[in-house]
Amino acid sequence: MKNALILLAGGKGERLKNKEPKQFIKIGGTTLIDYFLSNLDSSFFEIIVIAINKKNKKKYINSLIKNYKQHKIIFSQSGNCRQLSSYNSLKLLNKYKPKNVLIHDCARPLVSNQLIKKILDRLNKNNNCIPYLSFNDLIKSKKNPNLINKDIMSIQTPQGFDFKRIYYAHQISKLKNFKDDSTVFENIGEKLIMIKGEYKNIKITYKEDLNIFKEFKKKEYRSGIGYDIHKIDHKSKRNLTLCGVKIKHPPLIGHSDADVGYHAVCDSILGALSMKDIGYYFNNKNKKWKNANSSLFVKFCSNQLINNGYKIINLDINFICEEPNIRNLSKKMKKNLSKLLKMSLKNISIKATTNEKISFIGNKEGIAAESIVQITNV
Ligand code: ZN
Repeated sequence: MKNALILLAGGKGERLKNKEPKQFIKIGGTTLIDYFLSNLDSSFFEIIVIAINKKNKKKYINSLIKNYKQHKIIFSQSGNCRQLSSYNSLKLLNKYKPKNVLIHDCARPLVSNQLIKKILDRLNKNNNCIPYLSFNDLIKSKKNPNLINKDIMSIQTPQGFDFKRIYYAHQISKLKNFKDDSTVFENIGEKLIMIKGEYKNIKITYKEDLNIFKEFKKKEYRSGIGYDIHKIDHKSKRNLTLCGVKIKHPPLIGHSDADVGYHAVCDSILGALSMKDIGYYFNNKNKKWKNANSSLFVKFCSNQLINNGYKIINLDINFICEEPNIRNLSKKMKKNLSKLLKMSLKNISIKATTNEKISFIGNKEGIAAESIVQITNV
């Protein structure tokens, strides 16, 4: 085996004052560990060891394995200090005999694949590679204002090593509580090979760092499409409902209120979120949804957007019907959607076309609607 990665995720995140450890807090719909694993080039490592405590392993093992099938992930027991977490992971890795290992701190989710690649490339020639940044700020001592130190470096992760050498370094450096693996490596007399790290590869330690993470996160754009059609009930005395607007027109037949507009919108949002279709969440065999107001379904989709950290950029709906005249109704429809989806009116478009009297829509047997939505992470 050539390359392995150890991801240290045992931290308690006490400085963030959050119940959940920082690597598992959802920020804008994603956790630090999720962000790192979903952006990591899956061709780099043949195996990833996540050092995690027992409680979190139980809680997150299934979702980590299910969501990141592109990586081979195993788990090691985190220790009560960083050094022990690394050592436990190296012990576990030993049977896989990797040539190189990178050890990375889960609190640095913004590291780029380019930096990881650079470190891996350097390990072809060297037995270690450590990213660092030099300080641009003036570094002064509080106790001695005359002491200005220009030689200070900030050490980052991932730190890359020849597996056998770092494993040996850990074996003989037990219980000294070294602050990082490069120090453990130096302890056996090795010289560190330093390369320039990245400014955005910050260590998320304090609450303010979470906002920096949000800013640096890659912008993501997703689209979704939805289509729905219902039959018109010409015998009924009830009114038609389209995008929540009651219209003097024979209604549509359906299990719920058969609001074809809302249904198409829901499916487009669920599609953009890679979820299942509206029928899966609101089954038309379920009595609970009999004659239900479809605004409930739109609210559900709106909450899904929020929970997953997305907002709508624009929504475009198209009705296909001979009647009623949608143009006169679109203002009210937009108002309803803007309220339910918490989005600006100017980003909603409602259009309509007839079916030129062709086929069942042209014969006024049914009304169809289609919707396209674009969403982005917040
Ligand atoms: Zn429907």
